[in-house]
Amino acid sequence: MYDYLIVGSGLYGSVCARELTDAGKKVLVIDKRDHIAGNVYTKKIEGINVHIYGAHIFHTNNTKVWEYVQKFATFNRFTNSPVANYNGELYSLPFNMYTFNKMWGVVTPEEAFAKIEEQKKAAGITEPKNLEEQAISLVGTDIYEKLIKGYTKKQWGRPCSQLPSFIIKRLPVRFTFDNNYFNALYQGIPVGGYTKMVEKMLEGIELKLSVNYFDNREYWNTAAKKIIFTGPIDEFFSYELGNLEYRSVRFQTEILEKQNFQGNAAVNYTDADTPWTRIIEHKWFEFGKDEHGNELPKTVISKEYSSEWKPGDEPYYPVNDEKNGKLYQQYLAKALKEENVIFGGRLGEYKYYDMDQVIALALQKVTELVEQ
Ligand code: UDP
Repeated sequence: MYDYLIVGSGLYGSVCARELTDAGKKVLVIDKRDHIAGNVYTKKIEGINVHIYGAHIFHTNNTKVWEYVQKFATFNRFTNSPVANYNGELYSLPFNMYTFNKMWGVVTPEEAFAKIEEQKKAAGITEPKNLEEQAISLVGTDIYEKLIKGYTKKQWGRPCSQLPSFIIKRLPVRFTFDNNYFNALYQGIPVGGYTKMVEKMLEGIELKLSVNYFDNREYWNTAAKKIIFTGPIDEFFSYELGNLEYRSVRFQTEILEKQNFQGNAAVNYTDADTPWTRIIEHKWFEFGKDEHGNELPKTVISKEYSSEWKPGDEPYYPVNDEKNGKLYQQYLAKALKEENVIFGGRLGEYKYYDMDQVIALALQKVTELVEQ
């Protein structure tokens, strides 16, 4: 009999497993995949740590979380600065003075600000009610049309007018020359990859891979006093109220016989017609050097295609709009009645969390559990 069965070895599950074990609890982690680390999993291909389930750039303002992850990995000084490619025109991201200069030829922050105000006024937006209005009121119609509209439609499969405005607020808008995508005190990628970091978190903890909780849930429900479930909350309840909507992503990964394909870790294709949303060139997350300091002869890229989730697909992004929010509340009400089950992580809580938020929530949850 275990104190805790943890379903899923992503960041939420692995942090809980580490902390509960260190607090003297007997823990078992199971994962349906044949590897640990959930969607932060990285795999070495051609000497490069490939982000198999999409790019993950660790960034946080939470000093406690930053200090916590240092226990399990050394972080490099990677700073995310994606480039937007709109039909061959390149723009700096996030939206900053380099972007404004390229878009309008403006030189000073005052000129950029005036341009945005003018476009915002012409669009007649006072109180933004959705992503489209929010975007226009932040950066004006030109940037919205070229860098946001097509990308967002591809990414979410819905027009910007039907999406919540908080999604676009993830991106900073700056009147300075600064291409750092995140407003975060701390940022980096674990040296050696995320898998190595999670391996270290799970050191000495009992783990069973390729084990699906749902294949034998009656058995697993009796194996531990409590369960920490990090899979989709609607799947836990057999989708009985209907399924929550997710976006899924398909990755087309290629090994190229060249050293440098696009000169940057991430290039977003922001027009509506290019079928992929972005291309990731994984070596630039770690500066393209192998362990001996040599330039790697090859490169690995992944094209990302976004699609609506259907049963059998991997869920990646919860669609946090009103309709799904209401359904989630109903599932949450059911979850709260499950005294011995804790739901956590992006899928367990159906929230578009970043990695640092997931870690902070896991640490908080374990503190609560241990104090009980
Ligand atoms: N976005 C955009 N154009 C871009 C990059 C982002 O319009 O070139 C919008 C898009 O709606 C996206 C949101 O900003 O869903 C958040 O982007 P972020 O890069 O945070 O998404 P993630 O990396 O989590 O996929």
